[in-house]
Amino acid sequence: MATDVYYGSPFQRSLVPEQTLPARLDRILERLAIRDRVKGETVAIKMHLGFNIGYSVLHPVFVRKVVQAVKEGGGHPFVTDSPSSCATAAERGYTTETLGCPIIPNQGATEQYFYPRERPYKNIKEWRVGGHLHDATFLIDLAHAKGHPSCSYGGVFKNLALGGMAAATRGQMHDVMHFDTYWFPELCPDAETRQRIIDSCPFGCIVQDKERDEGLHLHFEPCNQCGRCLQVAPEGSLQIDPVNFQSFQQAMAYAVESVLITFDRDKQVFINIGTQITPVCDCFGFTGPAILPDIGIFGGNDPCAVDTACLDAMKSKELILENVPSSMEVRPEVEGHPLQKLHGPYKDPYLVCRYGEELGLGACEYSLVDVEEGEASDTTLAGQQALSAT
Ligand code: SF4
Repeated sequence: MATDVYYGSPFQRSLVPEQTLPARLDRILERLAIRDRVKGETVAIKMHLGFNIGYSVLHPVFVRKVVQAVKEGGGHPFVTDSPSSCATAAERGYTTETLGCPIIPNQGATEQYFYPRERPYKNIKEWRVGGHLHDATFLIDLAHAKGHPSCSYGGVFKNLALGGMAAATRGQMHDVMHFDTYWFPELCPDAETRQRIIDSCPFGCIVQDKERDEGLHLHFEPCNQCGRCLQVAPEGSLQIDPVNFQSFQQAMAYAVESVLITFDRDKQVFINIGTQITPVCDCFGFTGPAILPDIGIFGGNDPCAVDTACLDAMKSKELILENVPSSMEVRPEVEGHPLQKLHGPYKDPYLVCRYGEELGLGACEYSLVDVEEGEASDTTLAGQQALSAT
């Protein structure tokens, strides 16, 4: 059965505050019955608090709405993220005063507070779940929906997967893309050809391996799978294979599973705010112009449904080409999601939702409920048409 995903449109018919996103977030929180669900709970509001001078992180006005609803319901909220983001959060407007609740580093100030969970996957033997997320009794995953270099998209899965883990696990998750061999040096023994391969990539993805003279190292994040390098490399020596890209998304699903198993199913809430959609993650510490129009807010009790609804809304839009950094390449011939046209076909943003579904974390099918209209619409057809028409 399709799960309800509550939707707040970014558009106004009249110049009144009721028709703006913070007011619609209020209505989403009402439809999710937050106030009725949090009495006596220790509520972790997991966010990405960003870095440096990034200003596309969620505005404190939105966070205050969530904090206020939790307090009015008798819950005890705190905002949490990795220690490094928390340490500089005030520079981006996040303080106890502006948010209305404490900001607590998820893994402790020195990244040493975590709970290990064994579940071997490629190079990752255990998942170190941040201690404060683990200890909370109710979770609100409050994410900024935007692009991401490793998997093309970052929403509620990504927010919980990376920021939910201690530093060692976060590092291993990024390394997982290198686990499956993609460079076979015995098929390309001469240094001159290796240099030509390095030079063939316009994005600087391919570099000399620091440890082996005959080795090449691929940075998967800026790679859009254009294949230029494959035209230079001797056959079979270099592989640009979906498995390397998919492994990051599978790792994200395992990380989210490791967090969610510590919460009862009815104590999990997921919210995506799709404004100022940047090409890459808030980790980058800066903000450029949006590469997709604002799509609004999506809230529900199922991470697979909430991310899928948000991605469908993005899919109904066109990339704003003039806002794409000139160091990136849009590939109009790539079929699928706009974010794949920007980050490459192997970075299918829906993958993590499907992996999450396979792990039993939720279901991708959803029914979109516009909190303005109060009318449910069908997920795949009518829902998308409604979004396209806004
Ligand atoms: S596929 Fe394209 S972007 Fe990726 S490493 Fe090769 S040349 Fe670079």
